[in-house]
Amino acid sequence: MSTIPLLSVRALRVCFAADKGRIWALRGFDFVLDPGERVALVGESGAGKSTALLAIAGLLDRQAQVEGTLDFPALGRRPIPGKDIGFVFQDPFSSLDPVMDVATQIAEPIRFHKDVSWRVARAQAVALLRRVGIEPAGARARDVPHRFSGGERQRIAIAIAIAAGPKLLLADEPTSALDTATQAQILDLLDSLVRERGMALVLVTHDPAVAARIADRILVLYAGRCVEAGPSARVLGAPRHPYTRALLAAALSLARPPPRPLPEIPGTPPDPEAALVGCSFAPRCAFAQPHCRTFSPGWTGTPRDGVACHLFSP
Ligand code: SF4
Repeated sequence: MSTIPLLSVRALRVCFAADKGRIWALRGFDFVLDPGERVALVGESGAGKSTALLAIAGLLDRQAQVEGTLDFPALGRRPIPGKDIGFVFQDPFSSLDPVMDVATQIAEPIRFHKDVSWRVARAQAVALLRRVGIEPAGARARDVPHRFSGGERQRIAIAIAIAAGPKLLLADEPTSALDTATQAQILDLLDSLVRERGMALVLVTHDPAVAARIADRILVLYAGRCVEAGPSARVLGAPRHPYTRALLAAALSLARPPPRPLPEIPGTPPDPEAALVGCSFAPRCAFAQPHCRTFSPGWTGTPRDGVACHLFSP
């Protein structure tokens, strides 16, 4: 029996007006997410990861020009931000209200989206504070954000995001502002919360190690398109696209000393204002052939496990 997808994104293109033309953030992004699935969007800065997340959340800037379709088949209606979709931002300090106590900030979406009294909402907020690891929750519920550490603030931001019981949690680099030990704790917390609540998770990260720790499936984005997708173990263990291979080779690991010189992907991503002809990775690709610069590679494989590269074209 096939599962009705929670989210279906087809040929999504997002651009912004610029002085001399348009800045392309997404140039044709396809993505299907099942209920309860955990997916990581991986790539360099400017690949389109955060734009994809904002588009899914309905939080794109009003100036954004959007083409393509974005449906939520399992919901059967447009999602309500906060109720159906929770969002965790990169910087927990700027995403929290600095002058409001944390229990009130968690209770607000509960009160807004559920038909409960403030008293009940605050009691649920304190229970959520406890669930995300803030102790003693009752005593600290009245504190404002600056009385918490960076890791604790991200725990509170997660509590706010899940307070109304969303089916989908979106997280944009939720650990990149934290130290390594705290990063691992926050990823473990996200992992346990999405499992126990049956939420789907889409997490944006530039770090393959973060994706490996939490995602069932990985999508690798480059220049506004997905260039490779597949189960995490396959993508990380047997990457196909030359960009994925370069990205993994350039990733540093705590398990081994960093090589000298530090690995990097030569060249730079394409100009987001430029019209792209052929494969967008061709100027940086060690395997590029003349036809790569002329013809854009199509998708080879299934929608959930495949690659966009002429090396794998039939
Ligand atoms: Fe490299 Fe060609 Fe594949 Fe692009 S299509 S990644 S240039 S081999």
